Amino acid sequence: MKRVGVIGGGQLASMMADAAQKLGVELVIQTPSKQDPAVSIAQELVFAPVDDTSATEILAKKCDVITFENEFVNLQALSVLAQQGVCFRPRLEALAPLLDKYHQRCYLRDLGLPVPKFFAVDEAENLKSKIEYLGFPLVLKSRRHGYDGQGTFIIPDLATLEQKLTLNQSLFLLEEFVPFERELAVIAARSVEGEIITYPVVETQQEQQVCRRVIAPAQITPNQVAEIQAIAHTLLNSLEVVGIFGIELFLGADGKILVNEIAPRTHNSGHFSLDACETSQFEQHLRAVCGLPLGNPALQCAGAVMVNLLGYENSHSEYQSQRQKIAEIPQAHVHWYGKTESRPGRKLGHVTVLLDNQNRESGSAYAVGVGTAIAHTIESIWYPR
Ligand code: ADP
Repeated sequence: MKRVGVIGGGQLASMMADAAQKLGVELVIQTPSKQDPAVSIAQELVFAPVDDTSATEILAKKCDVITFENEFVNLQALSVLAQQGVCFRPRLEALAPLLDKYHQRCYLRDLGLPVPKFFAVDEAENLKSKIEYLGFPLVLKSRRHGYDGQGTFIIPDLATLEQKLTLNQSLFLLEEFVPFERELAVIAARSVEGEIITYPVVETQQEQQVCRRVIAPAQITPNQVAEIQAIAHTLLNSLEVVGIFGIELFLGADGKILVNEIAPRTHNSGHFSLDACETSQFEQHLRAVCGLPLGNPALQCAGAVMVNLLGYENSHSEYQSQRQKIAEIPQAHVHWYGKTESRPGRKLGHVTVLLDNQNRESGSAYAVGVGTAIAHTIESIWYPR
C-alpha cells in the first residue's frame, strides 16, 4: 500500500505528512478548499467536500486504500464503491454504528461497555417521566455532525429544554449529566492482523465543551488503566477496525469509568504522541491502514502536556510573536496548522511540552502537577488578558 487516499484535509490529515514521508507513503487528499491545512502536504488533491461520493470515486482511482480524517461522510453512497472493490480502512461497517451519537451509545451499551443513561428524544415514550428520571441538569446532544462541543448543550431546566426541542426532535439524544471528577482519553490502534496497541491514558481538560489541554499520562490507578485498555480491546475487536480510534471517557469521583465518545480516526487527545512517543498516532494510523506492523506507542519521556491554541477573535493574524514566545519554553514543540482565518474556538495549532525524564519515578503525579503549571504559562502567553 503506497498511496493512501484521505477523506478530509484538515490538521489531522496534515499531521500525517512526516510519517508518510518516513514510511514512503503518498497522500492523496479529498478536501473542499485550497486553503485547507493538508493541501500543502498532499501529493495529489481532489477538491470536493468530504461527503461528495463522486469525488471519492475519483480519489479511489488514485490510491490503494482510503481512510478518513473526517467521518461525516455518506456511508450509504460509499458502500457502492466498497462493493466495487474499493478498500476503506477502517471498513465502512465499522463506521456505521458510530456516526450517529444515539446509535453509538446503543452499540457501546449492547457490547456491555459502561455508558451514561441516555435515550433518543423522538423514540422516547413518556418523555416527561424519562426527563424526571435523568433529572436536571441534563445533556442534550445533536445526534449527528457534532464536534468540539458544537451540538452539545448542558440544559439546566425544563423551560430551556422545551425551547431547544421546538426544533426537529429526531435530531437529538438526551443523557444524564455526569458529574465527572476528570475526563480521560485513550488512543488505540488495530492492525490488519488484529493486533491492538494502546497509548498511555491521558487526562483531557475541556472548557465550554472544547478540549483545552491534555496531560500524559493521567494520574489513575493501574486497575483503571487496565479497565480502559480492556474497553479499547473490546471495542476495536468488536468493530474489526483497522486504524486509530480515539476513546473519550469520564472518571467519576467514585472511580467509576464511563465511555463518552468514540472518534473513528486520529484524535486531539493523541497529539502529544507526535513529540512524546516513538510512534505518533499519525504514523500508527498510516502503518495500520498500509498493512504494516504497528509501532511502539510508549512515551519517550516522563510525561507531556499538550495545549490547544484556540482562536479567540475573528482575524487573519499569524500570531507570530505569541508563537515565538511559546516556542522559547524549554522542550516546547509548537505545531501551527496554517489556517488563514482565526475564529473564536477554532483550533489554530497546539503546543506539546515534554516533561523531564529525570523525574520518571514520580510518574503521573509529576506530569499532572508540572503539566498544569506549564499549560497555564502557555495560555497566559497565548490568550489576551
Ligand atoms: P463533541 O462530539 O462535540 O466533542 P462530546 O460528547 O465529546 O461532544 O462533549 C463535549 C464535552 O461536553 C465533553 O468533553 C464534556 O466535557 C461535556 N459533556 C458531554 N457529555 C456530557 C455528560 N453526559 N455529562 C457531563 N458533561 C458532558
